[in-house]
Amino acid sequence: MTLGVYIQIPFCQTKCTYCNFHTGVVPRDRYQPYADALCREIRESAAHGAQPVDTVYFGGGTPSLLDPAALARILDALRAAHAVESPEITLEADPETVTAEKASAWERMGINRISLGVQSFHDAELRSTGRLHRREDIFRATDLLRTAGLRNISMDLIAGLPHQTAKTWEESLNQLLRLYPEHVSIYMLELDEGSRLGRESLAGGTRYSVGAIPDDDAIAGFYESARVALAKAGYDHYEISNWGLPGFPSRHNLKYWHREPYYGAGAGAHSFDGIVRWANVHEASRYVTLIQQGGSVHELTETVTPLNALSEMFFLGLRLLAGVDLAWIERQCQADEILRGRWEVLRQRVDTLQRHGMIELAGDRLRIPPDRLTISNEIFLELLG
Ligand code: SF4
Repeated sequence: MTLGVYIQIPFCQTKCTYCNFHTGVVPRDRYQPYADALCREIRESAAHGAQPVDTVYFGGGTPSLLDPAALARILDALRAAHAVESPEITLEADPETVTAEKASAWERMGINRISLGVQSFHDAELRSTGRLHRREDIFRATDLLRTAGLRNISMDLIAGLPHQTAKTWEESLNQLLRLYPEHVSIYMLELDEGSRLGRESLAGGTRYSVGAIPDDDAIAGFYESARVALAKAGYDHYEISNWGLPGFPSRHNLKYWHREPYYGAGAGAHSFDGIVRWANVHEASRYVTLIQQGGSVHELTETVTPLNALSEMFFLGLRLLAGVDLAWIERQCQADEILRGRWEVLRQRVDTLQRHGMIELAGDRLRIPPDRLTISNEIFLELLG
């Protein structure tokens, strides 16, 4: 089976208030040693067997901050270590970091998909969350990317940013549709202890415009209006948060939802070989030091038990609008004594959720109905909790 490769670039220019990713703002002179460490980790990954790779994803962080020459070196190391075949190569880019030189260098080195961190087309919303780009940067960056020949652009919006209203949300959606990217992600704002905004909200504070966050019903309404508008514009809704024009789903991200193997390089990156999951150390400077010393960067290794694999099949597969193949899962369970018992429980829960319209069966495929996707977390809890 072909492998997806995720490459983590954990650096940003500032920390957005809603961000709960493990990323940092560090002096630029730290980028080069980090890129060197990535090259070494990737080269050494071939020691466990070179594998055909068909998707590569530079995520972060803000990978577009890296000098294109460093990105090219990382890709060269990957191509030297593994057979990279007809790949989809994605780079996450923040609009204000895109220049004509970078865009054409990305295209020349084989990057063929850009995930542009748009978030909103409203400057007040962008400003309040600490984003550095403004509306006009999005248009400028899109022009530069198209001029450089990039034909697969993804844009994301966040529903629930402080100061967002039904009107500004509709305007952001309309502006996005004017640019007509090949792929769209819509995320509903999550408030948790991992972000400054989340911590402030949980503590009942007033900083970061926390009082201007729309309520849950409004956020669900924003998501629903996006769902309708994107369908009308010809986008295929294939995963809870993701839409693509025909032929443009994210091949890399589909591997996660299909539980296919992937290899993650860099600080905090996760890997899965079909049975075992592992993670690299989170802290970028520790990661670099360990690589320089020739040590292992793996810190968490977990063998996925058959019971956990069964939960993952539902949890990940039900994120997809195509759902999961229930008959196939049942056959796997019937062949194993422990899974057989769990299957009985799951089957009863599926029946209950189905009676309440929370889940539906289309032939052998079980899925969450599109108009219930805003409560998917509650449905997962009922099914797998
Ligand atoms: S949201 Fe993106 S750009 Fe902002 S701090 Fe997090 S990773 Fe960096």
